[in-house]
Amino acid sequence: MNHLSNRTAEHHIKKAHRAHDHPHQKEQSNDHYMHDKHAGHHTQDFLKRFWICLVFTIPILLLSQMIQQWIGFEIKFTGANYLLLALSTFIYVYGGMPFIKGMFSEIKDKAIGMMTLVALAITVAFVYSVATIFGLKGMNFFWELATLIDIMLLGHWLEMKSVMVASKALQSLVALLPNFVHVKRNNETVDIPLQDLKHDETILIKPGEKIPADGIVLDGASYVNESMLTGESVPVEKTKDEKVIAGSVNGDGSITVKVTGAGKDSYLSKVIGLVQSAQSAKSNTQNLADKVAKWLTYISIVVGAATFIYWFSTEGNISFALERMVTVMVTSCPHALGVAIPLVVALSTSISAMHGLLIRNRTAFENARKLTTIIFDKTGTLTKGSHEVQKIIALSDKFKEDEILQFAATAQQNSEHHIAHGILAKLKEKKLPLYQSENFQYMKGIGVSATVKNKRIIAAGPNYFKQNNLQLPSIPQSIDQNIETVIFVLIDKELSGIITLADQVRETSAGAILQLKKMNIKCFLLTGDNEKIAAAVANKLGMDGYFSNVLPDEKQIKVKEFQNKGEVVAMTGDGVNDAPALAQADVGIAIGSGTDVAAETADIILVNSDPEDVAQMISFGKATYKKMIQNLVWAAGYNIVAIPLAAGVLYPRFLLSPAMGAVLMSLSTVVVAINAKLLKLQ
Ligand code: ADP
Ligand code: MG
Repeated sequence: MNHLSNRTAEHHIKKAHRAHDHPHQKEQSNDHYMHDKHAGHHTQDFLKRFWICLVFTIPILLLSQMIQQWIGFEIKFTGANYLLLALSTFIYVYGGMPFIKGMFSEIKDKAIGMMTLVALAITVAFVYSVATIFGLKGMNFFWELATLIDIMLLGHWLEMKSVMVASKALQSLVALLPNFVHVKRNNETVDIPLQDLKHDETILIKPGEKIPADGIVLDGASYVNESMLTGESVPVEKTKDEKVIAGSVNGDGSITVKVTGAGKDSYLSKVIGLVQSAQSAKSNTQNLADKVAKWLTYISIVVGAATFIYWFSTEGNISFALERMVTVMVTSCPHALGVAIPLVVALSTSISAMHGLLIRNRTAFENARKLTTIIFDKTGTLTKGSHEVQKIIALSDKFKEDEILQFAATAQQNSEHHIAHGILAKLKEKKLPLYQSENFQYMKGIGVSATVKNKRIIAAGPNYFKQNNLQLPSIPQSIDQNIETVIFVLIDKELSGIITLADQVRETSAGAILQLKKMNIKCFLLTGDNEKIAAAVANKLGMDGYFSNVLPDEKQIKVKEFQNKGEVVAMTGDGVNDAPALAQADVGIAIGSGTDVAAETADIILVNSDPEDVAQMISFGKATYKKMIQNLVWAAGYNIVAIPLAAGVLYPRFLLSPAMGAVLMSLSTVVVAINAKLLKLQ
């Protein structure tokens, strides 16, 4: 079961990936280091600059008049001011460089943000202080400038560190691969680096080792732990001809595997690619956060300028007014906002991928919290699609049972549907040959037709008669319509036989419906199959209702009807006939083992084909959204208190120093990062 769904999921990832390729999303400067390969280097660079600047700050503090007055000592020598100037210039240039560089790249990208604010603030402080040394009346604030830069560097380092720890989830996927592989070449087993492994080679995987590439077991048997890739916590047994996936961990057995996907072709690297593109695609919430951050930047420039004008005109003290302006700009840096949402997105996409939920559309995923109704397709979604032939009935003397089967199977051989697989399996079991087929036609949600031995064969369900306004033939008593799906076989328009098939309800379907009902979500069954089966399945699973004999376009209309009644609707399906409804629904969910068309139309793919994952997806969607809002409120809300304090509304009782403002600003970012890290999928 599991290896099957992995194979199809891999298929779907290719498509999903493509869908994300074309819209060229410009990455926001704020989340640049999350996707930056050299983030580790940058992080260390900030720390180095911090330590060096800190050492230079000590003599600056000692040489500052204000500090001397506070502590009560005096250092005076000729040129002391110039030494102070030299030390401060060094800190401004060396410590301020990352911010000034950042400002230029923000201006280049036409996305003015926190780097610009910080660069503006330190430049104003520096230029003013330099001017005082050369004769402008007023007090320099070199020591404030130095401590401010120290704090900004330290804060930045802290933030980058927490952001990096948080986005480790994705890196840990990459770390699932071993460095070396035992490969069989010329009857010898040699160890080669993983990147030299090629398609079709034979590799040996010893007990406890990581599986280095996707492949098919040639020899041996073992239990393999795939939990990091599928969320399936129980090790899965792998024997000959079964598929193993790169990144899973081998149990106690030793297996020989033929490589089908190495390196970039492996399921794992495709998941990583999909996660990366889903992370950089922006949801509505994310766009909102970007907008707020942009506005906050404008506000802080305006409030900063207004603060300066106010204090300068009322107090007439330029250095005091400038210091307030600098504090406002530093305190209101929208950095926390820039981290608040992208971080949650990065985590939530990789966590869900590791649990077998592939999110293709983040907005739909975030909207999952609003769902009131979920519509389930029956065949292949709530049931396994195992379809075993139960009865073959000849309705006339012209064709015998085996001939009916042969005609039907021949007509079905080009169909992907479970029914086709079931009928072909029966033919194989009976060791009967296939005929030649021509002019194959698939009638979605109805059946198939083809020309076989110069006869027009139609193998279809009751919908065929509905579609053509024909009377539905009577169905023999011996058929239990509560369990059996009935397929009619028409030969040259004449009803010649009936084939019935039985499917099995998935073990987890009942649990899934129960969980959704606990969330107050109504569950309906929507199937192209007959009414009796629909009723039997819906009742057995305790669903709120069912719709049977539904054609593909009617599935879409049903979804629309629910939406018109004000319901927020998710559609869960696997088939070609579900695609229009998946597209119509507010949230389209495709079953991983289903058809490509369904997966391509859906917003979310359930890799493990487990209906219970729908409930899991919804609660994780809720948790993700909640975290985003918490972070947004925190990151924006902190400014409501901090900006007035920075502007000096409590003066003379309380005054926020520029360095304290920087501490607050950095802290708010760290709080937001830690809160994001607490996101979990239960
Ligand atoms: P569901 O909507 O429950 O997933 P299906 O995808 O099985 O149902 O399609 C609905 C109906 O369409 C089936 O019950 C069957 O009657 C008919 N049908 C679809 N594909 C085929 C096929 N290949 N051969 C015969 N009948 C088919
Ligand atoms: Mg189906």
